[in-house]
Amino acid sequence: MLRSYSQDRWQDGTGEAVALADAATGETVASIPRTGPSAALMLEHARTVGGPALRALTFAERAGVLKALAKRLSGHIDEFVALSTRTGATRRDTTVDVDGGIGTLAVYASKGTRELPASHVLLDGPVEPLGKGGTFAGRHILIPRLGAAVQVNAFNFPVWGMLEKFAPAFLAGMPSVVKPASQTAYLTALVVERIVESGLLPPGSLSLLCAGPGDLLDSLTSQDTLSFTGSSSTAYALRTHPVVAGRAVPFNAEADSLNCSILGPDVTVDSPDFSLYVAQIVTEMTVKAGQKCTAIRRAFVPAPLAGAVADAVYAGLASVVVGNPASPQTGMGPLASLAQRDEVGKLAEAARIVFGDPGHVEVHEADDSRGAFLSPVLLRSHDPSAAALHEIEAFGPVSTVIPYTGLDSVIELAARGDGSLAGSIVTGSGDVAASLIAGLAPWHGRLLVLNSSDAAESTGHGVAMPQLLHGGPGRAGGGAELGGMRALEHYLQRTAIQGHPDLLATLDPS
Ligand code: NAP
Repeated sequence: MLRSYSQDRWQDGTGEAVALADAATGETVASIPRTGPSAALMLEHARTVGGPALRALTFAERAGVLKALAKRLSGHIDEFVALSTRTGATRRDTTVDVDGGIGTLAVYASKGTRELPASHVLLDGPVEPLGKGGTFAGRHILIPRLGAAVQVNAFNFPVWGMLEKFAPAFLAGMPSVVKPASQTAYLTALVVERIVESGLLPPGSLSLLCAGPGDLLDSLTSQDTLSFTGSSSTAYALRTHPVVAGRAVPFNAEADSLNCSILGPDVTVDSPDFSLYVAQIVTEMTVKAGQKCTAIRRAFVPAPLAGAVADAVYAGLASVVVGNPASPQTGMGPLASLAQRDEVGKLAEAARIVFGDPGHVEVHEADDSRGAFLSPVLLRSHDPSAAALHEIEAFGPVSTVIPYTGLDSVIELAARGDGSLAGSIVTGSGDVAASLIAGLAPWHGRLLVLNSSDAAESTGHGVAMPQLLHGGPGRAGGGAELGGMRALEHYLQRTAIQGHPDLLATLDPS
């Protein structure tokens, strides 16, 4: 039975419990209570104990704690990997979640050490003269908010999802209150257990709610923050919650996304860039069984190449072994649940399935009647304007090849996704790249231009890097995470200070 970490001790929940199944075997891994300890008390402790303890440290000192923590967690990777398998993750999938999460912590530690001052206040921009006589001026400062940083996470990244929010909140000086998604909360809980045991964090700086949200949202104040990752319907419910909206609680959402990858019209079937495009589609469909918010759902290709692309992706998918995530031969594990099959059915009304049977898959070293196994499903559209292609997100190993006829048309089609986290452009032409960047950027949080000149070092379409923005407009939630030190701004109040320039100069810690 999972417990919550509240008021610096592990506490039991109450009431009915829900069994959490191993994604591959259906066996119960853990149970989670529907009702946790009081979220109001959890938040109060974070605000009154965690906040002051964190704000007593300088930005640089907090970076030092994160560095020690990243090192400590690295020593537990094998244990995390073993439990991660039960979420359906292969070792490759776990690299993105566990290794990627600890790596994100390490990047924030090192950037924080290099870029943040040994002070309690950040200066933002230059002194702005406001009077002709030189006796009156203004400048902005950034200072930690006094509340708790509440983080509600999705099931697909139980470790990375927590650490990518915790790291900037901690650096900024705010205590974190983490609510993992129930489905995979046991892995988040194990990592929190190891963090707590390390004794590295100041008291009150991390709490974990393993239960339903209870009174979490009702207990928020205007000095707290709320960060959310998950579906757009939950994002909407949180954004419009009377306390969140009524008290103007700073809110950030990372939601659904119908990401695209565009093959440039300059690429020919026999070129290395064609192979890069195809390999990337196969990778994005199969890593984490396509349960990645950044995965490619729409593969836009010049109309004359649609058949060749579909054939090449088919060949790539045909060699992917689906099955037991613990087996080294397995290329793709099970999904967290088979609910996504319905979405595939709706897509199949708008496009033809060219690879995979949503109702059947041969599995390796596993029992397909017990695990949530789904074949990769590739669709090919002959009607690029069909609404379903641009509106239905099958959160699994599902992608559609969609033909286009010109750059203006593909820019318009991409925009029908109504805002995405990540897009990629595979082209060797600087002109094509420039036109597509100009057309796509207003709809995207991140764009990758891939070709044989950068492929060897490319981190790939789907990987959110701590140095760069993760977030996107519209359907993607309208939020902004990561992006290096920019992520701290969610947890900091920006205040304009006006006064004599000599006074403003004293704000500068250097
Ligand atoms: P979800 O159902 O929206 O749940 C997300 C989180 O919200 C879970 O922790 C859930 O808790 C919690 N939650 C649900 N209702 C709540 C409420 N009324 N108050 C407070 N918390 C509440 O989404 P999901 O099924 O876990 O995740 C899949 C979706 O997330 C996909 O659509 C995917 O596109 C999106 N996603 C986006 C990103 C991104 O970075 N943009 C990353 C990953 C996933 P319980 O689990 O306990 O219900």
